[in-house]
Amino acid sequence: MRIKIKYIFLVISSFMFIACGGNVSQKPVVTVSLQPQKYFLEKIVGDKIDVKCLLASGGNPETYEPSLTHLVNLENSEAYFMVGNLGFEAAIIERVKNNNTDLKIYNNSDGVDLLVGTHGECCHHNHLSGEHSHDIDPHTWSSVKNARIMAKNMCDAMIEVDKKNAGYYTKNYNHFVSELDSLDARLTSMLASKKGTAFLVWHPSLSYFARDYGLFQISVGQEGKEASVQQLQSKIDEAKAHNAEVFFYQKEFDSRQAEVVNEQIGAEMVIINPLNYQWNHEMLIIADAIASK
Ligand SMILES: [Zn+2]
Repeated sequence: MRIKIKYIFLVISSFMFIACGGNVSQKPVVTVSLQPQKYFLEKIVGDKIDVKCLLASGGNPETYEPSLTHLVNLENSEAYFMVGNLGFEAAIIERVKNNNTDLKIYNNSDGVDLLVGTHGECCHHNHLSGEHSHDIDPHTWSSVKNARIMAKNMCDAMIEVDKKNAGYYTKNYNHFVSELDSLDARLTSMLASKKGTAFLVWHPSLSYFARDYGLFQISVGQEGKEASVQQLQSKIDEAKAHNAEVFFYQKEFDSRQAEVVNEQIGAEMVIINPLNYQWNHEMLIIADAIASK
């Protein structure tokens, strides 16, 4: 009950702020789930739209709970751009759709050739039921090729949401696609001699990246539960058999456990942040770590 009162107060105060002409931006708001989406969308919308993001750069989508401010921001948005297939997204839509029946909801991963079974047997990202498989790998944004599809979805959606700026969005989108093309060409040439190369990752966040460039991802951590000694040993054996030389891990997942496992492998430990706003830099860090071996 207390939470409800606080929530109502926040909604009222945010309306008052807008009504009084406070410092609140007058631009239309579009909310996205993750920072890489914010990066993509800001390339397209420039200064026409205020892009709000639910998850902070160091956030963990596995444990993310939206704050009241996030929910209020979402309710004041013209549209919500989901990554698609992240469990918290479905839960959020349930919570806001009654309060903003006009909120347009788009799945940015529509049309992506989704990977199944690369993200653990029963993914706790994914509490969606019905038409969605529980085995879908949600990390679609860790791929330049997928980013092209996501950017197209975003551009099409923005033209629906804000038709008067269609020409501006299309021009920016075309420019962004040429940036993505050169990034993809750069990564392709960096990794050209690395086809079939294995790399380790604690959390299986790079399945689409591996598919794009013909690499082999070995994920060590188990989804949502402690890995058993036998499971860890079999991953260590697999890493050795495939001569994996790089071990990617994220600060928000268990880095201490990763270091302990790596004592038996001896790979180079590389910190990545697949949820970084500087998405293009992350793509280059990953490719560079593998290419420099
Ligand atoms: Zn995941």
